[in-house]
Amino acid sequence: MGLAELEQWAVGHGQAAFRGRQLHDWLYAKGARSLDEISVLPKGFRQQLLAHPPAGAGDWIGRSRELHRSVARDATTKLLLSTHDGLSIETVGIPAEGRLTVCVSSQVGCPMACSFCATGKGGLQRSLAVHEIVDQVLSVREVMGERPSHVVFMGMGEPLLNIEAVLDAIDCLCGDLGMAQRQITLSTVGVAHTLPQLAERTLQRLGRAQFTLAVSLHAPNQQLRQELIPTAHAYPLQSLLEDCRRYVAITGRRLSFEYILLGGLNDQPRHAEELAQLLRGFQSHVNLIPYNPIAEESFQRPTPRAVEDFRQLLQRRHIAVSVRASRGLDADAACGQLRRRHATGLVAG
Ligand code: SAH
Repeated sequence: MGLAELEQWAVGHGQAAFRGRQLHDWLYAKGARSLDEISVLPKGFRQQLLAHPPAGAGDWIGRSRELHRSVARDATTKLLLSTHDGLSIETVGIPAEGRLTVCVSSQVGCPMACSFCATGKGGLQRSLAVHEIVDQVLSVREVMGERPSHVVFMGMGEPLLNIEAVLDAIDCLCGDLGMAQRQITLSTVGVAHTLPQLAERTLQRLGRAQFTLAVSLHAPNQQLRQELIPTAHAYPLQSLLEDCRRYVAITGRRLSFEYILLGGLNDQPRHAEELAQLLRGFQSHVNLIPYNPIAEESFQRPTPRAVEDFRQLLQRRHIAVSVRASRGLDADAACGQLRRRHATGLVAG
């Protein structure tokens, strides 16, 4: 809830409206985890609330519990968080010069089943509610003792299958935690017909579209893409690109394409050449992601030489391109790895 909603809520519970402002301060600025901590609220009121917890949400505050923490040598910190119904999700805090990026999950698991992704191996349990998304940012702030500057929806799940909660979360991060929409990135592998819907709902819900949309392309042609991404069979590359153009037309924002580099499979000069052709004239940015090995698959990491050649070839074809640095590899950085190892008892709870 935002400030106005909290004030209304307080009044609805027989309290003065200023109690809503106090709650806002304790929930967002102070990061309270339980009603007991919010000592500024009258004790009788707290007891009355504790006697009647809200249905289906655990407790009134709705914060997660930390199940496991994994800190890499580069200080990248991965948290395994438990939801009120006993499911677990991953969240990562990634510090870099002057910034702290939180990689958040939008679903518990994921139904898209991309071949190279650890999360996809376990299917979807459910979508996350808005407070469960915001909780991840608060949890990273608490653990790392620093205000997150950036949020990327690149953890578990497919954000376009949970658009309303994701937009509500962006609204909360900006309105209640003081982040800037420009520092937020939403990543999607593409769900048929949802990109124009995302564009329109964003303008309605947030008033403007300033976050970055990143589209997981991963292949320069339909044949290869559908081998890597099973959902691409029913949503061909040309339809995805058409929807991307519509998204750009509606929002006026340029977007970026993510391209995972799998050694020998899609990282050859001919693939770069084909990708440059495919994206010619499309105002966009390509982000190359060297594959992070996962236990279930035998894909290869690309050689540093292949990554650099790929980058240079795109650059020569006037495609804006960057290479994402792999962070926290010693901390199960590939999405979904920590949760799967935890589930099989390989890491202690
Ligand atoms: N479902 C969304 C967001 C989650 S994944 C999407 O697909 O975009 C965020 C990014 O990480 C995606 O580009 C995804 O393809 C990539 N990714 C997944 N598994 C990976 C792995 N093992 N190594 C490198 N990148 C991976």
